[in-house]
Amino acid sequence: MKVDLIDVLKNEGEKKTFLIIEEIENEITDFFGEKIKAILPIKVSGYVINYEGKIHLQMNIKTKIQRICSRCLNYYNEEIDVSANYVFTKELQNANEDLKTYDTDVIYIKDIVLDEITSQMSMKPLCSEDCKGLCSACGSNKNITDCKCVIKEIDERLEILKNLLDKE
Ligand SMILES: [Zn+2]
Ligand SMILES: [Zn+2]
Repeated sequence: MKVDLIDVLKNEGEKKTFLIIEEIENEITDFFGEKIKAILPIKVSGYVINYEGKIHLQMNIKTKIQRICSRCLNYYNEEIDVSANYVFTKELQNANEDLKTYDTDVIYIKDIVLDEITSQMSMKPLCSEDCKGLCSACGSNKNITDCKCVIKEIDERLEILKNLLDKE
């Protein structure tokens, strides 16, 4: 996954658009312990421009990631559509600069694309905002079946208090 800089490096102000569509199945393997699978090829579109001696990259990333709902544990697809900007320089003037560097005449973007994808992924994956989850008594998926289990919610602290009051 790379962006060619040969043409843009020739002249200041030179701009070049790019479109990369790449399968990266099984490459994003870990997101807080979750195995991540892109179910569509990752589509990265954007441009690079040579401006003030630096390469400015603007891109949009689109794909779908297979997730597991944290409530009902079913698979669903999370849509990724994220835009990002980066500035690249040939050599860092000082280590504190918030810039990326490029080698010769190409920028490898796979790592930043994967970073952008994971930064957009939900920390609390849900198949839908109102997913009803699993029944804590019988384990059935309450989105699909209405199991009629009755779950008594007993607050133990209140029970102890109630017992004490009853004795008096
Ligand atoms: Zn769910
Ligand atoms: Zn149930």
